[in-house]
Amino acid sequence: MSIYQMVRTFPAKFVRKLMPPRKPDLLKEHNITVRRQHRSSLMMRPVPGGFEVYIPRWMKPTSPKVYAFIESGLAKLGGKAPPIPVEQTSKADILTMVESWAVRMGVQPGRVQFRAMTRKWGSCSSTTNITLNTRLTWLPPRLAEFVVVHELVHLRVLNHGKEFKALMSQHLPDWVERETEINQYRFG
Ligand SMILES: [Zn+2]
Repeated sequence: MSIYQMVRTFPAKFVRKLMPPRKPDLLKEHNITVRRQHRSSLMMRPVPGGFEVYIPRWMKPTSPKVYAFIESGLAKLGGKAPPIPVEQTSKADILTMVESWAVRMGVQPGRVQFRAMTRKWGSCSSTTNITLNTRLTWLPPRLAEFVVVHELVHLRVLNHGKEFKALMSQHLPDWVERETEINQYRFG
């Protein structure tokens, strides 16, 4: 008897037992993150230590379509995630940078937190909370420092205009160089 026949013949509560929830295992096993995005198609890409899958907002991350897409994606990509880069600095080191630079610049950040982000190295909310990309630990400390100073300057100037650049130059004279350098890092 095929699974299909069982599905047709067996009452729903038995079918659920017969078909184990494989998807969470697959996600865990390959360290796959599924993100809903404003997009119309599905996309999968390798990132250090795992994979990221982007799906349209209206699609359920647990839908069979997403699961099938992930399975074929894994097959195409060889199922092997790129290695995780060696840490060049730690979160604790970066938080220490935030503290000492905040004192030096005379600013008072609110909550400082780390998050795994794909598009940004850091962000600063209008409520003075700072979010830093966990992946900053994979960069040379001077580049993490650049991001720290950048976000702290945002506590004074929210945009990237003249005043912002002047403050950056005042605190980190070689910030343009560091910015060029950090833009060369792409982690998937
Ligand atoms: Zn900025």
